[in-house]
Amino acid sequence: MSERQTKYVFVTGGVVSSLGKGIASASIGRLLKARGLKVTLLKFDPYINVDPGTLSPYQHGEVFVTDDGAETDLDLGHYERFIDENMSRKNNATTGQIYYTVITRERRGDYLGKTVQVIPHITDEIKRHIREVARDGDVKDVVIVEVGGTVGDIESLPFLEAIRQFCLEEGYENTMNVHLTLVPYVRAAGEYKTKPTQHSVMRLREIGIQPDMLLCRVETHLSEELRQKIGLFCNVPKDYVIEARDVESIYEVPLIFEENGVADKIIQRLRIQCGPPDLKAWREFVYKIKNPSAFVRIAIVGKYTELHDSYKSIVEAFVHAGVENDARVELKWVSSESLEMRPPADYLSDVSGILVPGGFGERGVEGKVRAVQYAREAKVPFFGICLGLQVAVIEFARNVCGLEGAHSREFMEETPHPVIDLLPSQVNVENLGGTMRLGAYRCTIKPGTLAHRAYGTTEISERHRHRYEFSNPYRDVLEKHGLVVSGVNPDLNLVEIIELRDHPWFVGVQFHPELKSRVLRAHPLFREFVRAALEYKARRQVPEELARAAASD
Ligand code: GLN
Repeated sequence: MSERQTKYVFVTGGVVSSLGKGIASASIGRLLKARGLKVTLLKFDPYINVDPGTLSPYQHGEVFVTDDGAETDLDLGHYERFIDENMSRKNNATTGQIYYTVITRERRGDYLGKTVQVIPHITDEIKRHIREVARDGDVKDVVIVEVGGTVGDIESLPFLEAIRQFCLEEGYENTMNVHLTLVPYVRAAGEYKTKPTQHSVMRLREIGIQPDMLLCRVETHLSEELRQKIGLFCNVPKDYVIEARDVESIYEVPLIFEENGVADKIIQRLRIQCGPPDLKAWREFVYKIKNPSAFVRIAIVGKYTELHDSYKSIVEAFVHAGVENDARVELKWVSSESLEMRPPADYLSDVSGILVPGGFGERGVEGKVRAVQYAREAKVPFFGICLGLQVAVIEFARNVCGLEGAHSREFMEETPHPVIDLLPSQVNVENLGGTMRLGAYRCTIKPGTLAHRAYGTTEISERHRHRYEFSNPYRDVLEKHGLVVSGVNPDLNLVEIIELRDHPWFVGVQFHPELKSRVLRAHPLFREFVRAALEYKARRQVPEELARAAASD
């Protein structure tokens, strides 16, 4: 680009939520980055919570943690996975956060006696935040700003007003509005309906924002005629009314967008100079997702199994790890509470790997302990993440070391053996928001372990989000009984990775590896876990096939 003028693309959503605004924004990001541009993304969330860290997974889905320890919206996970850049706390802001900043300034007396108002003080803070992201690190060529919620919500008004002002200040050539909308198919009429889109755009225009491009979600195909009609009613050139049809995998979205000229039109509209896109590796990745040679089933034993968004990054990490193993990973969702009612084998005998993910609260914990016991005894590959490591330690302490009643202090204050406990620094913490062990911490890996084999190095850094820790006073006794401490944080002497010796693949980690898995760069532990599951399946199939052959003789 000639001058280093940052360009801004705003992405809003209309008609209904859950149309995939995060994926659409991340896909645009990928297509621009594939053309050699420096891109970043920013998500505004219109709710009042300062961050999603205090929200229930039922309300919000996964909390995505960045290296700098911010608890953020799960869309930041898509951003990192799609554009392969680290996000930071600056890349997500809520209404709560914006107000918090303004109110703190007001209390300090910074406004010099003025009345503090939504316009201009809140809108100024929103605009300041956007410009700050543009200059974070090296100056960006393009900043994509996604506004959460749906146009028409009262909550999102200050953000839209700020965007209107921002576009005026930065100029037509430097700003662009993309609106993602739904064109539903009404079966009774046998037609696609454009009215909801017309109304949504009307609301935007009332506020003073004229969308430059419409991404229309449709089940199958948006005809030329419909695009013409939508364009006419919404005051958008027909060529900028884009069909965004349903696809099998979210990773296809950048390719569909490219096919429909989304990035070329953005570049044209914003007068960006850049080369052609390099999407070769991405195309191969999508091909591999759709054409796997093998298949393996892995169970996720968790508490929020009916809400897969709570485990978003884990689900995606399995897609990446599957591709690297040339296999499709089918996830079997098992509610940990059900394992408290019936024997684990009833739910787990048809899987080749068991994963216990992170979680909070006591409900279902005993079921997770049973899942671990089953995996340990039946020698099924096991992967424990955060709470998953903690329950693995509890299970081992109780059933192998004979430490009766061993538990985590989180679930049993009076346990005789608190093998998982609070650090002294956490004991007097009163505020729940932002006070866990959060973000990136170093970990030193013991040579010759499963972890070492996976990472291929002894120094790593991973992201954390938990309050409780492996209790060091129990380390000796657990190690004597065969537990391997394969990773330790060297600064705080905290156990970060455990393994079992007499088991094909049993690994627990105190951090969240799923947060760092990327397209074309699967997380090494997920990759190795899937490989172990495929090997387990192959080992088990041989005797089954022999038995079948014998029976038919
Ligand atoms: N509840 C546990 C803790 O706070 C585990 C947290 C998690 O799994 N993210 O330590």
